[in-house]
Amino acid sequence: MSEIAKAYDWGTIEQKWYRFWLDGGYFTPSIDHEKKSFTIIMPPPNVTGELHVGHALTAALEDIMIRWHRMKGESALWLPGVDHAGIATQVVVEQKLASEGMDRHTLGREKFVERVWEWARKSRKSITYQHQRLGASCDWTRECFTLDEGPSKAVRTAFVRLYNKGLIYRGERIITWCPRCQTALSDLEVQHKDITGKLYYMRYPMADGKGFVTVATTRPETYLGDTAVAVNPHDVRFKHLIGKAVVLPVIERKIPVIADSAIDAEFGTGAVKVTPAHDPVDFEISERQGLPVINILNNDATINENGGPYAGCDRFACREKIVADFEKSGLLEKIESHSHAVGHCDRCRTIIEPQVSKQWFVSTKPLAEKAIEVVVGGRIALVPERFTKVYLNWMENIRDWCISRQLWWGHRIPVWYCQQCNETIASVDEPSKCVHCAADKLIQDSDVLDTWFSSALWPHSTLGWPDDTDDFRYFYPTSVMETGYDILFFWVARMIMMGLEDTDDIPFHTVYLHGLIRDEKGEKMSKMRGNVINPTDAIEKYGTDALRFAITTGTAPGNDVNLGQHRLEAGRNFANKIWNAARFILQSLDTESAKGSSLRLLTVDCPELVEDRWILSRLNRLIIDVNKQMNEYQFGEAERQLHDFFWGEFCDWYIEIAKIRLAESAISVLTILIYVLETTLRLLHPFMPFITEELWQGIAQRLPPETFSSKSIVIAPYPTGNRNLIDDEAERVMETVIELVRSIRNARAEYKVAPAKWIEAHVYADTVSSAIAAQSQVIEVLAKARPLKVLSRRQRNVQDEKALVLVLKEAEVILPWAGMVDVGIERKRLEKEIAAIQGEAERLENRLKDKLFISRAPSAVVEKERVKLETFKDKLQRLQQELIQLS
Ligand SMILES: [Zn+2]
Ligand SMILES: [Zn+2]
Repeated sequence: MSEIAKAYDWGTIEQKWYRFWLDGGYFTPSIDHEKKSFTIIMPPPNVTGELHVGHALTAALEDIMIRWHRMKGESALWLPGVDHAGIATQVVVEQKLASEGMDRHTLGREKFVERVWEWARKSRKSITYQHQRLGASCDWTRECFTLDEGPSKAVRTAFVRLYNKGLIYRGERIITWCPRCQTALSDLEVQHKDITGKLYYMRYPMADGKGFVTVATTRPETYLGDTAVAVNPHDVRFKHLIGKAVVLPVIERKIPVIADSAIDAEFGTGAVKVTPAHDPVDFEISERQGLPVINILNNDATINENGGPYAGCDRFACREKIVADFEKSGLLEKIESHSHAVGHCDRCRTIIEPQVSKQWFVSTKPLAEKAIEVVVGGRIALVPERFTKVYLNWMENIRDWCISRQLWWGHRIPVWYCQQCNETIASVDEPSKCVHCAADKLIQDSDVLDTWFSSALWPHSTLGWPDDTDDFRYFYPTSVMETGYDILFFWVARMIMMGLEDTDDIPFHTVYLHGLIRDEKGEKMSKMRGNVINPTDAIEKYGTDALRFAITTGTAPGNDVNLGQHRLEAGRNFANKIWNAARFILQSLDTESAKGSSLRLLTVDCPELVEDRWILSRLNRLIIDVNKQMNEYQFGEAERQLHDFFWGEFCDWYIEIAKIRLAESAISVLTILIYVLETTLRLLHPFMPFITEELWQGIAQRLPPETFSSKSIVIAPYPTGNRNLIDDEAERVMETVIELVRSIRNARAEYKVAPAKWIEAHVYADTVSSAIAAQSQVIEVLAKARPLKVLSRRQRNVQDEKALVLVLKEAEVILPWAGMVDVGIERKRLEKEIAAIQGEAERLENRLKDKLFISRAPSAVVEKERVKLETFKDKLQRLQQELIQLS
């Protein structure tokens, strides 16, 4: 039997038990058809680098759920993984290359990809290590990487199936382009920032030489790609111009003035330039009106050959040149300051360009219809519920999803082009020859897929789909998808669409969305602000259990968490409290067994003593509440209740009461102490796995070997509670006892009674008086009140009391002054205070009688002085009352 260390040393404990759990295979569930399965697929962190505190929150919440279900006897699978994070990782490695004076093009595709793999392998190892330090009870034997062969085959299969159904197509559409990353982006990868820019009013001369039309734009350089000027058909100002032409200055291109009912006559000048290749709305107009589409940009956002004299010029330099040229010719009407949202690349912060480009798209509308149905029909629930509306709104307005990226890192698009017959072949496996003409000159599409395409398959691709595996049949559909609300559209929505499409089933039945972690003041954490909390540092300083407690306690799903030193310290203090309480109990146990008594775990249903019935009643009420909160995904609330019970009831009261009894009848009270401690440890285990295992093992060592059926708390049953042990009467009595002790303690503090001094107390009550009388010893010791008399209210004689009277819910406490303070000294103190306050009051009174002061001082100041005087008068009255009581 090992002694319990004096201080809680989390470092060694955490490492020891994680190793023990791995060696015991506790995290690898069995496929057992007698058991219910519970599955969480971990949102794969990006392979870009270190885990941040948001990942720690994800891990903590998922571990709470998994450990809880595992203890409930279910086959609980938490499948970990890592995401290759296409663009993000490529940018990171490119930056590394740049620091070595290289770029990916000089390295070439093959060598570059090898460099990224090198990075990814190292990064994956450190991500696994960090998750293990967080205590994550994932099944590492099933760990997945998005680029592993299994998930990659799933990606190709899903692509080909959609392609064959006509739900994936390649086309020239308007997309978002990052000139730095030189790839297409999805709308979700664009960050919109409000910028104060300029609105330029440009004049386009009429082709017939009769005047001009003025259009307003924030991007003058796009005029090079204009193919029409559009007006509202009902706008009388322009009606006569419809059908005529204008000439674009400098480049001398003639374009028509057209009518389109989408044009808002109130906006700008009412006449709008139409640039189909560089504006999504204009692109739609061009499709309706059959206008030409002229792309004016190279991939690096310099002007291409369509820009005439501006060709080769950077987009922003070109803007200035064009504005100057228009001005010179008297064609610039005015420039206004204009604030508007400008899109930036989410990864490299470069201003993006809408651009027509040939890309691969998923037709999302038919997929979205089913994804709406399962949420509306309740097959998938969102927690918290308020996100349902947000989800449905996005789904109902969904646009086709651009899935091709001009990157080198990722899943290559499984499409080959025949150089002989020009046919396109989509295939899961690499074709050796053309299925149309049998030629072997095939070239694979050079693009890769959007990272979110593989993430969208994650719940089924990690379980073996498209193969019919045991894992897939047993663990799919998964149970809960737990992730941040910030990726509801990026990820959750797409998993629902693709899960339904590929497996004809929902991917999970519940989506749990957590909030963001902010700093103590509620500010976003960022390196620039210097307020980032690194989880590894926090673990070193406070311990894993403390960190987990700090980020999850008291928080609700979907709400942001404000994390700072204060919460971390509270977590550490709670861990220390648990440690010290357990250490006291286990040491008492050691003393007792040294005496030869043997102890067994509590089996009695209903103990006799009221304090025992009280703590068991409180404990069982807690168990029932905690289970209810957990079932409703209110883990933070469950944790708060556990904390309050352990600290505020078990430690502050029951253990203190037990200390009195330990001296006499140790066995009966030890039985209860161990029972409550062991049960609470199991309740707390999902939240604070390490300290609970260490202490639980300490208990197991000291009890007969047959006491527990499991070798680890990890698979010990989660308490379910016993309603028969709820005892309202015991709770009522103990509540009164606690209130009595507390009020006497407060009075002692207020009157600065020396801690060692015993004071006399009389308690008057009605129905509970006999029950309180039975607790006399407890009240005496805890309140240091002796002699203590518990009497019926009828016996009270108010006239004779020279005492402090405390009125409680079910009792009155009378503390005779004589027993509590030295009456002579106390009287002198009161007289002195009365004199001082009287002086103050008189001074104020005189001031308020002073007409000069009243007339000159602002009324607010006068009012303030009046209130002050009232307060003094009131205090004076109370002090005089006290003085009378003392005499
Ligand atoms: Zn970029
Ligand atoms: Zn062919």
